[in-house]
Amino acid sequence: MAMARRLASSLLSHSLYAARCSSSLFPGARTHDLAFGVLRMFSMAAEPITPPVEVHHTQLLIDGKFVDSASGKTFPTLDPRTGEVIAHVAEADLEDVNRAVSAARKAFDEGPWPKMTGYERSHILYRFADLIEKHNDEIAALETWNSGKPYEHTSQKEVPLVTRLMRYYAGWADKIHGLTVPADGPYHVQVLHEPIGVAGQIIPWNFPLMMFAWKVGPALACGNTIVLKTAEQTPLSALYVSKLLHEAGLPAGVLNVVSGFGPTAGAAIASHMDIDKLVFTGSTVTGKIVLELAARSNLKPATLELGGKSPMIVMDDADIDQAVELAHFALFFNQGQCCCAGSRTFVHERVYDEFVEKSKAHALKRIVGDPFKNGVQQGPQVDEKQLNKIMHYIESGINSGATLVAGGNRIGNKGFYVQPTVFSDVKDEMAIAREDIFGPVQSILKFKDLDEIIRRANATEYGLAAGVFTNNMNTANTLMRALRVGTVWFNCFHVFDPTIPFGGYKMSGQGREKGIDSLKNYLQVKAVVTPLKNPAWL
Ligand code: ADP
Repeated sequence: MAMARRLASSLLSHSLYAARCSSSLFPGARTHDLAFGVLRMFSMAAEPITPPVEVHHTQLLIDGKFVDSASGKTFPTLDPRTGEVIAHVAEADLEDVNRAVSAARKAFDEGPWPKMTGYERSHILYRFADLIEKHNDEIAALETWNSGKPYEHTSQKEVPLVTRLMRYYAGWADKIHGLTVPADGPYHVQVLHEPIGVAGQIIPWNFPLMMFAWKVGPALACGNTIVLKTAEQTPLSALYVSKLLHEAGLPAGVLNVVSGFGPTAGAAIASHMDIDKLVFTGSTVTGKIVLELAARSNLKPATLELGGKSPMIVMDDADIDQAVELAHFALFFNQGQCCCAGSRTFVHERVYDEFVEKSKAHALKRIVGDPFKNGVQQGPQVDEKQLNKIMHYIESGINSGATLVAGGNRIGNKGFYVQPTVFSDVKDEMAIAREDIFGPVQSILKFKDLDEIIRRANATEYGLAAGVFTNNMNTANTLMRALRVGTVWFNCFHVFDPTIPFGGYKMSGQGREKGIDSLKNYLQVKAVVTPLKNPAWL
């Protein structure tokens, strides 16, 4: 934490270059131009802040050692603030995945990990959590540098939540047990819960470390071994914390981490014959590909957490200022790069105009800039591909007749910054209301009554999450039950806790992560039936 304080005070000495600025700097400018005019000036002129961390780990982690890829190939990992190279990272392909799976297989079949008591495993996971806590600020800095997330958030929220997640799973390690069941007959029947084996885990770039924790935590608590592939955009934080996990006492081969691309390293994991379970978070398109690979290879079971187009429903009885703030947060949090973002803001017609005006004001106030700078709320998008995708959707919104009320442009020409953008008059059939934009683009739609909003909110292939904002308990209860989604946030949004299960209905996925449900992903169920010699004692 000392580093966070040092960084905070050094950041305070920089002049704030985001949207909240003195109009006397630009007399005559409209607020909108002013906000982004100032941002542009600094994002082009000011040097990016030097991240308070160094990159130490860029190789693959196989069998407890950092090693080069078999081909010797590397790929550059970029700083989204500038598009410049942070480091070259070893690039895994089929041969490396094979080596990682062999190590994980051996560690599962012959190693101590699955045979350890839950209490011993929990000890290692608790020590790991302590090490994450100790290195909180370096880990957060690495995460910010590689992904563009505001450092204030990674250091104060995300990394502490990762620590909490690991403690949550450490607590589970010695509480996983089966049952005895009363069969109809002279039998003693036990239901054993055993680790599933080697887990193949493929994670995305929007929450690199959080997704690592959601996957590694329950897999390890249940006694499995792992081959995990990070997203090609964000390999650094997982390598750093994996080193800490070994320092905490994890035996070699239990966790193997490969950096690499989807169609090569990712596909090799999904289709590997010696992987017993696939767990994937990413887009629905890629989810379908990996599910097919899993089915065609060894029919390994899969848990998938995929895309979303979550409704954020604002009723006319709601406190408008609070609703605007919550809907803004629901969409713009994490640069809009959340599978569960409230990306369809449905507002009752009686409060629609006021809501749009206030949402516009909120977007114009949003502080965009170098994510290492104190007070910055929105950093750059993760890469150029995402930037281009977002710009394409903004153009599509304009062309399809939605009204652009704020933003709409890229900021500067260096790095991947996008103006917080708001569209009103959005219709259900527009691409911006149907497809997963994954960026800071809010679409505000109008509705009249409850039956209509239930029908429209559910009229999507996705079913990840929904927000409901109302003071009326009857309305809330009706919506909470009618919405076909994995999470309903009622008068709140983006509340994540290790205890709360997360996952989707429909094409938003299969299975749940976090909470007690996540353990099922990593356990086999074995029935053991023994005849009783003396049925009189049944
Ligand atoms: P995005 O398009 O936002 O990058 P993806 O769903 O494609 O989202 O990526 C999520 C994860 O899936 C990443 O780790 C990526 O490398 C991986 N991936 C992408 N394509 C494939 C594939 N064909 N097979 C396996 N994994 C893949």
